[in-house]
Amino acid sequence: MASRFFRICACYVPRAVLFAALALAACDRKSPPEPAPADPSSSNEAAASPAPGGAPQSTASTVKRAPLPAGPHEIWKEFSGEKAFEHVRQQVEIGPRPSGSPGAEKARVLIESGLRAFGWQTERQTFTDTTPRGPVQFANVIGRFIPPGAKAARNDTQRAIVCSHYDTKRFSTISFVGASDGASSTGALLEMARTLALDPALAAQVELVFFDGEEAVVQFTETDGLYGSRHYAQQLRGSGRAAQFQFGILWDMIGDRDFNITLSSDSPPELTRAILAAADALQLRHHFRMFDRAIYDDHVPLNTIARIPAIDLIDFDYLYWHTADDTLERVGPEGLQKTAAVTLYHLRKTLK
Ligand SMILES: [Zn+2]
Repeated sequence: MASRFFRICACYVPRAVLFAALALAACDRKSPPEPAPADPSSSNEAAASPAPGGAPQSTASTVKRAPLPAGPHEIWKEFSGEKAFEHVRQQVEIGPRPSGSPGAEKARVLIESGLRAFGWQTERQTFTDTTPRGPVQFANVIGRFIPPGAKAARNDTQRAIVCSHYDTKRFSTISFVGASDGASSTGALLEMARTLALDPALAAQVELVFFDGEEAVVQFTETDGLYGSRHYAQQLRGSGRAAQFQFGILWDMIGDRDFNITLSSDSPPELTRAILAAADALQLRHHFRMFDRAIYDDHVPLNTIARIPAIDLIDFDYLYWHTADDTLERVGPEGLQKTAAVTLYHLRKTLK
């Protein structure tokens, strides 16, 4: 526990232990991340125009001649909590989905087919990492929108990352299906793909990422847990793509029927203000509150490695977290719809 900042992982601290520990331990808040370097090509105009030396699969001329059609005026009203919940159901029905398992592969196949059905190109980011129980093969799934008339997606038009983890924590004693912790945000992200596709110009500016390996194999340390997001962030930094992103929004455990977002204390201040303003505009502000400690989740590598301001929209106040009762009966469409509405509102206001 005594590391450079007090960490609470959505995935390993039992609540009773957590609050007892919090009463005793002071939190060394980590410094807010520096904003990503300014990107001269990050205007909307640039996003819809070909960049010199852009992606090899560029369809630049098509994009240049025919501006992408405008989407619904209030796109945040188009997201269906019920449709999202159906994706959640399909993830849960796979059964346990720990990294490296057949269940995880089934989850990926569902994610990929869902993305493609809504006009998104998929990329599997496969890698092997060392875990306390030996090497494990992980695979993130990335979705990039294919604009109408184009044959393939570009990879230089995205300005925002919206992400989730799809793996579930491995338990030897229970059958853990992670209805909220894994499936909820994954299902919502697939409905997000359908919704964004209604506004191609907006969709082209969003990268959807489904992380593998969020859960620790044994217990969270610097090297156990967040495998997928660390790898993704390292790739972004190494390739130089990190500079094109303005912000990231992570969803995790958003299915609780008693829905309330607990914002980690390490949330970037400017992004936090913008998200709360979006919640306020949609009359959902009462569902959001600041948590008084840092939550260790997939937004951390985006902030610290890729240097992209990223916020975690997580309902950490969930009674069934990491229990056999984190089942479909405990979750509903409301949290999915509200989290997505706030996210879509912010995307629309920021990127257009
Ligand atoms: Zn977890």
